[in-house]
Amino acid sequence: MNTKNLENLVIIGSGPAGWTAAIYASRADLDPLVIEGVEVGGQLMLTTLVENYPGFKKGIQGPELMDEMRLQAKNLGVRIITSNVTNLEKEGKHFKIVYSEKTILAKSVIITTGASARWLNIPSEKKFKGRGVSTCATCDGYFFKGKTVAIIGGGDSAMEEAQFLAKICKSVKIIHRKHCLRASEAMQKKVKILKNVEFIWNSEIKEFLGDNILTEIKVFNSKTNKESEIKVDGVFLAIGHIPNVNFIKKGLVELDKMNYIITENTKTKTPGLFAAGDVQDFKYRQAVTAAGTGCMAALEANAFLEGHVYDKKLKEC
Ligand code: NDP
Repeated sequence: MNTKNLENLVIIGSGPAGWTAAIYASRADLDPLVIEGVEVGGQLMLTTLVENYPGFKKGIQGPELMDEMRLQAKNLGVRIITSNVTNLEKEGKHFKIVYSEKTILAKSVIITTGASARWLNIPSEKKFKGRGVSTCATCDGYFFKGKTVAIIGGGDSAMEEAQFLAKICKSVKIIHRKHCLRASEAMQKKVKILKNVEFIWNSEIKEFLGDNILTEIKVFNSKTNKESEIKVDGVFLAIGHIPNVNFIKKGLVELDKMNYIITENTKTKTPGLFAAGDVQDFKYRQAVTAAGTGCMAALEANAFLEGHVYDKKLKEC
């Protein structure tokens, strides 16, 4: 490998964590390279109004926020490659990164690949993906204008999807496996006042039904132990996310039981390898916390490249 290809710092991923890490690393003169993935911007690209990212008094659309972050990084000289990383491993004292059949070496790496929507993984689901079953209301909701849809899940995503779909659909049924919601009180309140939203508690989808497109779902109620069929035109899954770690060579990072990368102040178990944002955060999973950990990772990477640990840095003047 030609050392001309040796990068100081490669940031993999392009959500709030990735761009914040890139902005900080660029300002620290690390000349970072971002490999942003082909689906640029992460989960905020699938959101509508973001009201809880500080600095925007009327809120900001998710995709616009991500465009701004990307442009800010670009204006600071950050280099960007649009591609998916397929392999990350150690080669000697450096990291080997493979994307689009190209290989580069880096002295340090920040993983900010986030998490992707979880699917139910029941046999009939595959048949109806894109034919009535979706994980993104802002992307696909319009196809169900004036129709009846179901949302699966009881978290903030489910509530967000419900608010969006209630505006365009005739009827929205939130089907949740428990009798209470995990979503924040504020989000619950906004949904519970909507006239065309109905909650179906203690219930899980057993099967998606229809010929070519979805027309019905078979639902099991764990309280009554009964199955019923409900007519719907679309189903939106909002049942959480799975961290994107498949490209990382086994053993390079430690994963918890849900496959989130275990970090300590963004440091993984491998020196020089850091993780920030949702890929290492099951607990908070907010754009602003992702951005915060992106900043931490860049500061840690800078310290690593200078040969010390960030929190032990002593400045004499
Ligand atoms: P969550 O993990 O919070 O919620 C997932 C929901 O799906 C839970 O109600 C869970 O049920 C249910 N679920 C999980 N697996 C299954 C399954 N196999 N079958 C049926 N139901 C299932 O994920 P979210 O995506 O809602 O939220 C993730 C994070 O993002 C949270 O921190 C949230 O606060 C944040 N967020 C914030 C928003 C905002 O502030 N605007 C908007 C959207 C998300 P159970 O409750 O039984 O575990």
